[in-house]
Amino acid sequence: MSRFLRRIQGRSESKEHKILKVRIKEEVVEGVLEACRNVHPREFIGLLRAEEGMITEIILPPASIYGKGLAQFQPHMLPFDFSIVGSIHSHPSGSGRPSAQDLNSMFNFGFVHIIVTFPYSSYQDLHTYDKKGNPIQWEIVE
Ligand SMILES: [Zn+2]
Repeated sequence: MSRFLRRIQGRSESKEHKILKVRIKEEVVEGVLEACRNVHPREFIGLLRAEEGMITEIILPPASIYGKGLAQFQPHMLPFDFSIVGSIHSHPSGSGRPSAQDLNSMFNFGFVHIIVTFPYSSYQDLHTYDKKGNPIQWEIVE
């Protein structure tokens, strides 16, 4: 079996595995909080890239989509990439719960989703969910 096929198989197995905790690099969290403050009151939107089980990078959608809100964001417009594990977006309203639209669009893609709530000032403004909208724990790694 080729390396490519093994990677696909590994991914489908991990989809069935219940995620208990997500690890995020500290500099990623700091960068996201700052980015959310910068675009407020617009929504910040990005994709999460992971390496070895830890979120290490945020991928921004193309400039044509960025800043126009979640309705404009379609993950299939972006390059297909196995290291992308989910999405992150801000809620300028301050609500930490995924909306019905979140669950029906963005949350279908990947398996870890983060909502960042106004005022984007501390780690408590990050809320992490699985693709069904169940809260999952997360921890910061330096
Ligand atoms: Zn949302």
